[in-house]
Amino acid sequence: MDFQLTEENRIFQDAIRDFVVNEIAPLVDEAEETGVFPKQLFRKMGKQGFLCPRYPVELGGGGGDKITECIMVEELNRVCPGIAAALMAQSGLATQPIYRYGSEELKKEFLMPALSGEKIGAFGLTEPDVGSDAASIRTRAVRDGDHYVINGTKMFITNGPICDYVVVAAYTDPSKRGVGINLFVVEKGTPGFTVSRKLDKVGNKSAETGELVFEDCRVPADRMIGGKEGGGFDQLADALISGRITYGARCVGTAQAAYDLTAQYAKERIQFGKPIVKFQNTRFKLAEIATHVDVMRTYTYRTAWLYDQGKNVRKEAAMVKLFTAEILQTILSQSMQIHGGYGYMMEYPIQRFWRDGRLYTITEGTSEIQRMIIAKELGL
Ligand SMILES: Cc1cc2nc3c(=O)[nH]c(=O)nc-3n(C[C@H](O)[C@H](O)[C@H](O)COP(=O)(O)OP(=O)(O)OC[C@H]3O[C@@H](n4cnc5c(N)ncnc54)[C@H](O)[C@@H]3O)c2cc1C
Repeated sequence: MDFQLTEENRIFQDAIRDFVVNEIAPLVDEAEETGVFPKQLFRKMGKQGFLCPRYPVELGGGGGDKITECIMVEELNRVCPGIAAALMAQSGLATQPIYRYGSEELKKEFLMPALSGEKIGAFGLTEPDVGSDAASIRTRAVRDGDHYVINGTKMFITNGPICDYVVVAAYTDPSKRGVGINLFVVEKGTPGFTVSRKLDKVGNKSAETGELVFEDCRVPADRMIGGKEGGGFDQLADALISGRITYGARCVGTAQAAYDLTAQYAKERIQFGKPIVKFQNTRFKLAEIATHVDVMRTYTYRTAWLYDQGKNVRKEAAMVKLFTAEILQTILSQSMQIHGGYGYMMEYPIQRFWRDGRLYTITEGTSEIQRMIIAKELGL
């Protein structure tokens, strides 16, 4: 067993950390305040292989693996979970189905420009009335000659308002629950595809989230990922398993940021004549947070490593998502408590991580859904 990052991993970690501190940190306040994502980051990061680090270099990726992607997501989250959310949608759900199952044409037209940051991608599964029960989506794609006509609405779509394309889940055969689903790549500007509204969120404000409407939206049949009707649910599951591991890194980065901010604050805040870090309660809480962060990180990277070995990690990925997202809630709550009244003020950054991290037991499969997956995998 070897729990060390490789030399290559460490070089990547140093490089992305520098990039985040120098190129992203100065943009955070404005992006969070305006709710406008600094789009130039896509190209800038793509150019340096930071945007989609686990895809092959020949396609425009960084040539790394799942561990590399986790490093990138962790480092981004330490500075701004909102900005990280937009970028990880690109490195994960908006690109993986095309990479794994897309035709050469789709790769050329959408995947490669996405990996290099020239195109921004989004992934549309959730609908206004359908979230956890994904097999119940109502969006339909009906064949008409050499096109499919898509009708439906997608809700809460990360990058929706700024995307150049969206990977949309729709039923080609609604009589086959789950298996009759396909994924389609729909380009911005296609008649019938509109961003009906940009959504105002509690946190992760710099990631732009929207509702997308498809109304008699005609897309060429070759925009269907996989090239034949059915099988989209497996493509989705594949992307979601990978996404749950990345989610662990998202929680680790956010938890590390909370620890760093709180330890610093506790050393500076004086009460009863001494820094509050000298009180046993504060020390114990910080010691516990640091322990949890270490366990979260170790488990996430171990699962990323298993994924890189080609192992079936359906259960472990759900465990990563469940454990890291849930424990993060305690970490954020304790961090806020140690900050006292100042923590509740907008000028202190802990409130931003507290708001951002609240999301993580909800998206990409709620904690309840992860428990269902784990129980099923355990044969219960
Ligand atoms: C900021 C943000 C960004 C997002 N980005 C995207 C995106 O890019 N693309 C995309 O497709 N979606 C996206 N989503 C959607 C997200 O994945 C869903 O919100 C999530 O899957 C939960 O679905 P829901 O909100 O409809 O909740 P619901 O499914 O309505 O669930 C409500 C509650 O009921 C619980 N519940 C449901 N079923 C069960 C059950 N069988 N047993 C026990 N409890 C149950 C849930 O756990 C939850 O607590 C995003 C959401 C947000 C908030």
